[in-house]
Amino acid sequence: EGRIVESTGRWYKVAYDEDTGMQTINCRLPGRFRLKDHALTNPIAVGDYVEFEINDDGSGSIEEIKDRENYLIRQSTHHQEDHQILAANIDRAYAVQSVKMPRMKQGFFDRFLVTCEAYQIPASIIINKMDLADENARAYVDSIAELYDSLGYPVLKTSIKDGKSLDRLQEDLRNNTSVFIGPSGVGKSSLLNSIDSNIDRKVGDISTFNEKGKHTTTFAKLLPLKIGGYIVDTPGIKEFGLVNIEPWELSLFFPEMLEARHNCKFNNCTHAHEPGCGVIESFKEGHIDADRYDSYLNILDSLQED
Ligand code: GDP
Ligand code: ZN
Repeated sequence: EGRIVESTGRWYKVAYDEDTGMQTINCRLPGRFRLKDHALTNPIAVGDYVEFEINDDGSGSIEEIKDRENYLIRQSTHHQEDHQILAANIDRAYAVQSVKMPRMKQGFFDRFLVTCEAYQIPASIIINKMDLADENARAYVDSIAELYDSLGYPVLKTSIKDGKSLDRLQEDLRNNTSVFIGPSGVGKSSLLNSIDSNIDRKVGDISTFNEKGKHTTTFAKLLPLKIGGYIVDTPGIKEFGLVNIEPWELSLFFPEMLEARHNCKFNNCTHAHEPGCGVIESFKEGHIDADRYDSYLNILDSLQED
């Protein structure tokens, strides 16, 4: 038994435990697996647990793919119907932004959290570069932290200059499979470099955070951590793909709307304008944060465009 840590689409590198420590073997995937799920372009991804056999030539052959706890998809920019599994069996996903340079946008957290809810991946928020925050920025970050903590999403305030914050992050990552997602320039590489000596990512120049599409590699990797566990390396991915959500389903992924949506008059209510809407009522009573509701409407819009 082992776990896929790298894939080229033709070969899969599988890590497995031997008496001598961690080993890896290059495996192929027999054709019969490719026919299983037509909606997905790859039947197997990094993070998958597999059973394999060792061939005479030392290569491996995958015999079985274990059921997944969860997975993230990568949406093809060209074909709505083409989805690729980005990584499977993720313990926690982290949405990373910085207080400043580049400035934090709440909508990014909300889109990320909807995806995590939809794919059943525990989610946390990291607000980095706290050393750059003045008093006003700190107060803003505190209000954000309070909001998301209350919704069940832990918020970590970090700075690469604050060892204590890095220790907390390190404890969070230990022995887990974690993925960091965020705009470039917020400090993802810097954070990962500082919490584990196995990781040596290139840190970007601060002036390049507006550049887009520099990476073209498509396949994710699991990077083993010295402290135990893995980081899912997702080259060039700044947001997760969100697919197959119907507009009326969206509120299922907003924890603060779960109760109120039962009071809606129509069961396909989108909570945007309908009469007798329990969510709008709850919002008016002050139980739903205005920015969160705003994000909800924005995401709803984008789902209705598709
Ligand atoms: P990534 O694109 O998200 O991986 O961001 P990088 O790790 O490449 O960092 C982008 C820039 O932000 C670099 O110049 C880092 O030195 C800087 N940076 C990262 N973390 C912090 C932090 O906590 N505080 C400050 N002041 N700068 C940081
Ligand atoms: Zn409603």
